[in-house]
Amino acid sequence: MDLYEYQGKELFRRYGIPVSEGRLATTPGEARAAADELGAPVVVKAQVLTGGRGKAGGIKLAESADDAEALAADILGMDIRGHTVTKVWIERASEIDREYYLSLTFDRSAKKPLFMFTTRGGIDIEEVAASNPDALVRLHVDPLEGCHPWHGRRLVYEGAVSDPGEQKQIAAIVGKLYEAFVGCEAMLCEINPLIVTPDGEVRALDSKFTVDDNALFRHPDIAAMRDIGAADPLETLAREKGVVYVKLDGEVGVLGNGAGLTMSTVDVVTFVGGRPANFCDLGGGGDAQGVVDALEVITSDPQVRAIFFNIFGGITRCDEVARGILQAVEQMRIGFPLVVRLDGTNAEEGRRILTEAALPNLHAEATMLDGARRAVELAA
Ligand code: GDP
Ligand code: MN
Repeated sequence: MDLYEYQGKELFRRYGIPVSEGRLATTPGEARAAADELGAPVVVKAQVLTGGRGKAGGIKLAESADDAEALAADILGMDIRGHTVTKVWIERASEIDREYYLSLTFDRSAKKPLFMFTTRGGIDIEEVAASNPDALVRLHVDPLEGCHPWHGRRLVYEGAVSDPGEQKQIAAIVGKLYEAFVGCEAMLCEINPLIVTPDGEVRALDSKFTVDDNALFRHPDIAAMRDIGAADPLETLAREKGVVYVKLDGEVGVLGNGAGLTMSTVDVVTFVGGRPANFCDLGGGGDAQGVVDALEVITSDPQVRAIFFNIFGGITRCDEVARGILQAVEQMRIGFPLVVRLDGTNAEEGRRILTEAALPNLHAEATMLDGARRAVELAA
């Protein structure tokens, strides 16, 4: 789950990483009140789950509360790379001498968290990595040993931060960022820019914070930060039902059991010239209720023209799945073709149940390739 800047900063604050004081506003009037409370000048910042807000005109300096109200009126409702702004963060303006970059993420190939730091912050980090790779310091942390003071010192020395006051503050922030990353079970914590003020104070001016969805159940306070309004309603429905669902662009709804088979099904649908509208993973189980839930999610997707239901029964028994399909079809009156490929444990029994039901829009196929072809044909 990606957090908004203001939410990430709230977590930073909890872990002792210095941030500026601010308030959230959803109307120009609230923006004015926030500016009055904080004292101008303030910065009005669009809260959207995408970067490059500054360049897109979503970040403006307000010299007065009047200004803040007018700028908030401009920014609220603005479209930034396909995201509509419904909230602005009003923050006490900072004076900036220098902009650095600090992040912590997973390096999957090294199987370790990875710090990246550079004194060339503020701009796109990809640009620094491409044009000036030596300026980007990378340092892994062994998760079993954890983060120690030397990690912070190594980053600032290799990053060539010369001021001792800055070195000390940044090294401390490095330690706290690691605590936030582990404590929140994050997948990314990025500060760009990490600023140095004319007084020599180091502070996080921006935040990009991604928390592992699969760990959210351990963090109800972070889970509650989810923006229901901004989420895809189908993804919300799927999450409520405990169904793994991913939205894609095509016409064929894909349902499989197990991540591997589901991904292969997406590939095969594409291979035979179709385009998946989405995919759903029933997981290893796939009891009747699971099938009903998954079909309910898939059939709510208006782009779906046909469904390809690909089941290999290992632990999942195909007769159980077949009953689930019939139960779902009865409950929901599925208005479009449903192609089912059943193979594995009790496959014959499963296919017999489906054939005996003799539903006009239910098509049983014996192989994955035939099933995919059929579904793509029927979706056309
Ligand atoms: P992003 O464009 O989405 O990455 O948003 P940021 O929060 O990183 O802001 C972009 C840029 O706006 C920063 O790099 C700063 O140069 C500028 N900016 C943001 N807040 C302030 C502030 O309080 N004072 C000043 N002077 N500039 C700011
Ligand atoms: Mn930024």
